[in-house]
Amino acid sequence: MIINADLHIHSKYSMATSKKMDLTTIGEEAAKKGINLVGTGDCTHPFWLKEIKEHSTDDSTIKIGDTSFVLTTEIEDINRVHHLLLIPTISKAEELIETISKYGNLEADGRPTVKLDGCEIAEIAKNIEALIGPSHAFTPWTAIYAAHDSLMSCYKDMTSYISFLELGLSADTNYADQIKELHDLTYLTNSDAHSPWTNKLAREFTSFNVPEESFDGVKSAILRKRGYGAKLNVGFYPEEGKYNQTACTRCFKQYNLSSAKSHGWRCPEDNGLIKKGVSDRISELADLDLTSHPEHRPEYMHLIPLSEIIMMGLQHSSISTKGVTNAWNKLINKFGSEVNILINADIEELNIVDQKIVNAIESFRKRELIIHPGGGGKYGWLELPAPSDKKFEKVQTKGQANLLDY
Ligand SMILES: [Zn+2]
Ligand SMILES: [Zn+2]
Repeated sequence: MIINADLHIHSKYSMATSKKMDLTTIGEEAAKKGINLVGTGDCTHPFWLKEIKEHSTDDSTIKIGDTSFVLTTEIEDINRVHHLLLIPTISKAEELIETISKYGNLEADGRPTVKLDGCEIAEIAKNIEALIGPSHAFTPWTAIYAAHDSLMSCYKDMTSYISFLELGLSADTNYADQIKELHDLTYLTNSDAHSPWTNKLAREFTSFNVPEESFDGVKSAILRKRGYGAKLNVGFYPEEGKYNQTACTRCFKQYNLSSAKSHGWRCPEDNGLIKKGVSDRISELADLDLTSHPEHRPEYMHLIPLSEIIMMGLQHSSISTKGVTNAWNKLINKFGSEVNILINADIEELNIVDQKIVNAIESFRKRELIIHPGGGGKYGWLELPAPSDKKFEKVQTKGQANLLDY
């Protein structure tokens, strides 16, 4: 069976997350996005694990409506590298809590920070039969390739146990496959959502061919056993991610690698810290060209949250206007999920909403949207192509320093 899974989110117990990140809301919202399986996130947090247990029917079955959950957590290591763990059962999560609580305060944050390195965390993961891999591997703050130049440098003799890598919002398969050491890993596209709303939860997800909708099913797919595997990675255009380009973290002015270096990674405009973008980091690490992919690698589909496409179509300034919300609900009620609307539905059938929205969806399908890349912590943003060439020219020559956030 084919399932859509978003295996990395954070609960209301993680820092800077929505109070609505409770299991019931996540389960309901995931279903609207066409997601079957969601990672619980934060399962080492005692209050969150309690909530998970309340919704479980046995040691590994957690289900809300049509949405199943698998136990997951993200752990920050001593070098500030984030690791994602997929855990088989509630009792194994409890074992994990027992082990790592000696190295960090698990109640302080849904995403715990522990005084262990990547290799030690991978050993602990192996002991509880969990799967582990680096989260948002290329982002410049808290990721493996921010602190290390290779998997081996991080995971040492546990490197062969690493089974997957999370691409993160600023990278896709074409980026990551330029690095040869990643070719054996299964790529995950996950949302890392901090709120359950439609432009966050499942903004990235992976379609898997699995024997069952469970930890064991996903494990077979990630390890590519008996013909199972990841069948499609779905996510942002990498340029939309907030660390795609090298840029100042204060004014978001973008730099190329050599000028960032010549300025000593300080922005000459405001002395802000310049952070290396994912695009530049990949080109430093690349040992293959853009077209090198291992045989098992599935296609990567670039998807944009429907609410953002509606917002663009209506020329509204936010996704939370009444107009955007009404149109979103209307489409979801008829077509069931965002994927159906954005990819599968006949374009003529979408005309239950304003024609401008239908046109925007059509532009997305035809890949006509203009992407202004993000960097320095500011998301990239999208624009519909203007009908007249004159406006089009103006858009393309717009300076990068004043990117609007949405
Ligand atoms: Zn993280
Ligand atoms: Zn600056």
